[in-house]
Amino acid sequence: MSTATLAAFTEPDRPKDLLIRFITVGGSYVDVTGPGQHSDKNRWNCHGCGDSSDRPEQDYLFRIRPDANGHAAACRAIPLR
Ligand SMILES: [Zn+2]
Repeated sequence: MSTATLAAFTEPDRPKDLLIRFITVGGSYVDVTGPGQHSDKNRWNCHGCGDSSDRPEQDYLFRIRPDANGHAAACRAIPLR
């Protein structure tokens, strides 16, 4: 992947409950947010396409993490703002 593509976009502000931020193949970001490892109230959302975790919307980090990383590896939406 070209680093020039990544440098063209600025990273959004980091929410206070941000646990992990994945960069997507489209140069956007997938945020994993929530209370942390020992909680089932964590979730992910994509800044590029607007997709997010659902069914269940919130889950333990060990379940959310691979889903969020998988989305980041597949999502080609570029950040529009
Ligand atoms: Zn996406």
